[in-house]
Amino acid sequence: MNKTTYHRAIATLAFALLACVCWVAAGMVSDRMVQQELTTSVRVEQQMAASIVDNTAQIIASDLAMSRAIPATIAEMDMIQLALAQSHSSAEEIRQTEPERRAKLLAVPALAKLDNFLRNARGFTGLDYVWVVNSDGFCVASSNGIDSNSFVGTDMRMRGYIQKALLGAFNETYGVGRSSGDPGIFIATPVYRDGFLVGAVIAKVSVDRLRHWVARPGTFVTDSNGVIVMAHESRLENRVLPDSPVLRMSRSQRLDAYRRVDFRTLQLINIGERVRADAPWLPPSLARSFFSSGDSSAPSLYDERTGLNSGLAAHIVHPLPNWAEIVSNQRRDRLLVFLTALGVSLLAIVITVSYLRERRLHRGTRHLANQLQSANALLSAEARHDALTGALSRRYFLDTLRREVDLSRSGGVPLSVAIADLDHFKQVNDRFGHATGDRALEHFVRMCEEQLRASDGVGRLGGEEFGLLLPHTSLADAHTVLERLRKRFNQEHCAYLPDDTTLSVSIGITELSDGDTAENLLKRADLALYAAKSGGRDRSEVRPADTRPPMPRHPETA
Ligand code: GH3
Ligand code: MG
Ligand code: MG
Repeated sequence: MNKTTYHRAIATLAFALLACVCWVAAGMVSDRMVQQELTTSVRVEQQMAASIVDNTAQIIASDLAMSRAIPATIAEMDMIQLALAQSHSSAEEIRQTEPERRAKLLAVPALAKLDNFLRNARGFTGLDYVWVVNSDGFCVASSNGIDSNSFVGTDMRMRGYIQKALLGAFNETYGVGRSSGDPGIFIATPVYRDGFLVGAVIAKVSVDRLRHWVARPGTFVTDSNGVIVMAHESRLENRVLPDSPVLRMSRSQRLDAYRRVDFRTLQLINIGERVRADAPWLPPSLARSFFSSGDSSAPSLYDERTGLNSGLAAHIVHPLPNWAEIVSNQRRDRLLVFLTALGVSLLAIVITVSYLRERRLHRGTRHLANQLQSANALLSAEARHDALTGALSRRYFLDTLRREVDLSRSGGVPLSVAIADLDHFKQVNDRFGHATGDRALEHFVRMCEEQLRASDGVGRLGGEEFGLLLPHTSLADAHTVLERLRKRFNQEHCAYLPDDTTLSVSIGITELSDGDTAENLLKRADLALYAAKSGGRDRSEVRPADTRPPMPRHPETA
């Protein structure tokens, strides 16, 4: 595997790892988001379901209270109490057939009057039927007394609500009417006369009149035996809640109360765990409130209000309206968060890598700049100094000379300039070699530096010829100083030459005067040097400024 392939493999692996991390992080973030959304939504829907079921319970309570007031009021009426007190069923009447009893009872004027009263009462109150039974359990008067389906004369002893009422218990019972076959609520009130129970008043409100109880979708009402007596979705009626008392009732009891034997159970089951299998982000606390009524797999909320009058209970199965949307939101959010996290991570990596590269490049550039600066400094130092002797280079010496001329002129101070040329130097080279000649040149420069001030300048004009610059020095003083230098150079033995060998130098000195240029100065110094050479060497000659035209140059310095 070559280096590029290896790098590619590492980059792919890192990208895959980053994508995995982003995917897991996106899952956590989107789970959190959807949990919050769902919690809020479920709380709202639970409140809505609770308010609906509360409302249903209140309507049931108020409707039944109104319905209960009618038989209770009738039971207080003197006319009713008197009629019932006088209508004991004799043994002969009990043995008679129903039509015979009915015909006999309808013929009694007081009871016929009662029938009429009950018919009117039913009409006013909106009840289905109102009737009275005597203490033997026979109907003696009814709102449908003269109708074909008249209850008058009917033996009602076996009906539970009659039995309870004749035992003195006020009661409301759901049941299916034996005569009409219509389901309804039977409200039975005992009737007393002078402290004796003389019969009962019964009112029936059919379920159809109470349909508004289940006007809201998902609502249904059960009776005390767990039978759904009415539901918004009518297909649920006559089903029973799981483990209802009706399932433990005998066949005849069921027939007696409901005119039917078989009841299908409503599959109201908690589907929290099942839903969590598909949506693992669903918190268990919320999952516990998820129900299904068996017909739908979508989660619903369930609430109930039990213990209402007559043993009725109000229920609601309230579907979560935005469940599907929440589930798809979770998937969408995860994808969005994943893409965002991946994009941001990649951007952060690109920025970091660019920054690191830039910093490395910057460091390299800085290093290079430093190197260049050092090289420049070295070059400029080299440009200013003669490599062999360390004296100023010719060019730098001339620049310095020009500067000093200007300064002296503006400052009005003296400036002396000299040219020194080593005598018979060719012979030194010839006798001792070029390298020794070099050492001799170094020796001369070192001596100049020792004998002159730090502010004076020594430059190598070429070969064995040097320029000497003495600022703030008059011609006479320069002569003195340079004479001392000349003598010292001649007297002090150069360590690189044989003991009996001496060196000497000739020096031409001049001084700056008005109108002088650096070139003029050098020319005059050169003339002085020429004079020194001509005069026999190892001497210094002074040439003050004068108006005479310059003489031809010493051939060596030309
Ligand atoms: P004069 O007294 O008239 O000045 O005699 P001279 O021999 O010094 O003068 P000339 O011009 O004849 O010779 C100068 C010599 O200086 C010739 C050359 O070999 C020598 N020279 C010039 N530059 C260098 C150098 O850098 N190193 C060495 N060793 N010798 C040099
Ligand atoms: Mg010379
Ligand atoms: Mg020379």
